[in-house]
Amino acid sequence: MSTYNVEGRDRESLRELQAERLRETVERAYEHVPFYREALDAAGVHPDDIESVEDVQALPMTTKADFRDEYPDGLFAVDDDEILRIHASSGTTGKPKIVGYTDHDLDVWSEVVERSLRAAGVEPGDTVQNAYGYGLFTGGLGLHYGIERLGATVIPIGGGQTQRQVELLRDLESDVLTCTPSYALYVAETAEEMGIDPHELPLSTVIFGAEPCTDPMREAIEQRLGVTGIDIYGLSEIIGPGVSNECHEAQDGLHIWEDHFLPEVIDPQTGERVAEGEEGELVLTTLTKEAVPVIRYRTGDLTTLTYDECECGRTMVRMDNVTGRSDDLLIVRGVNCYPSEIESVVLEFDGVAPYYRIDLDREDQLDTMTLSVELEEEFDGDREAIRSAMLTRLENVLSFTPDDLRLVDPGELARTEVGKVQRVFDHR
Ligand SMILES: [Zn+2]
Repeated sequence: MSTYNVEGRDRESLRELQAERLRETVERAYEHVPFYREALDAAGVHPDDIESVEDVQALPMTTKADFRDEYPDGLFAVDDDEILRIHASSGTTGKPKIVGYTDHDLDVWSEVVERSLRAAGVEPGDTVQNAYGYGLFTGGLGLHYGIERLGATVIPIGGGQTQRQVELLRDLESDVLTCTPSYALYVAETAEEMGIDPHELPLSTVIFGAEPCTDPMREAIEQRLGVTGIDIYGLSEIIGPGVSNECHEAQDGLHIWEDHFLPEVIDPQTGERVAEGEEGELVLTTLTKEAVPVIRYRTGDLTTLTYDECECGRTMVRMDNVTGRSDDLLIVRGVNCYPSEIESVVLEFDGVAPYYRIDLDREDQLDTMTLSVELEEEFDGDREAIRSAMLTRLENVLSFTPDDLRLVDPGELARTEVGKVQRVFDHR
């Protein structure tokens, strides 16, 4: 337990620490950010009202739209000369969300990433190949400084250059690869094309994040590369990667580093908190951020929280790995479903590769969905049989069947080498 210190502290003293830090955060926001002063005044809450962690529920929420409206630095709580670094999240539409970091913020970030790496089983002296994109995206530099702080060797290769990536995995004997789940699969595939058996690589762990990853997808990564797959979670509005991480001991949910981030799960429709263990939208409040303190940020990510004791000894709450975002919800002819639900069903089948895409169209005012699923190289079964079994299973599980289910040949669907994978194409 000695290695965990803060991570294993008793919940009561953790609650006290959180309450103290919550009050400081609200004070900071109220004093220095006009947006928060207005929102708190409108909600009739004053920083002095915060006495316990439960008082967080009286505070107003912050949304993605608020980050955009306050572009570029309306949510900053410090003067420009205290900002040491800027990052931005890649908005697919509209302006990016800009975030800044003070010296202390950068220190906290390295600390939580170091903690995440330790939870993943990474040790000082290990070699970590960091294939997250460097630049404004928080993945690359976020992991980078945590790796160094741990005392591991970082290979700052970034995304892309996949053949080179494979060569370095082999030649520099990297123990750990950090990247998106879709990219991990692409690395495995590229190695095979190069005539290198991924299982022969010294790689033992892949730490993946920045994209939702269902259990069948994780299994595919673990099998293809012969590794342990560990989920890391974070978002730039809160700090970047390192908000939470799975422990390698249990691989059963991601421990949220609660001394720095206060989690809640709400019903996305009503905004009310849901019971422990129930699924809802994750809402996060930063507890130590200086440059951009964030109060009750609606992440859009769907998860559940469990406070049950973990076999690793950490007492910090665990969140389920995020497989869906509330804004990923597909509404097709009035039926709601998440791409992750479709993924889970499709990947149950033997002979199916972990590549698929969903195309939504509108014909004569009617929504149509085409689901394309790639077959594995070794597939030599009956296509029609697997196709009809898959349709039945989709209908049973999701009460919905795509208008067209295409089983395509290996390699037919586009791969993503840099950035996040796109699986849903809405042409409506
Ligand atoms: Zn654990």
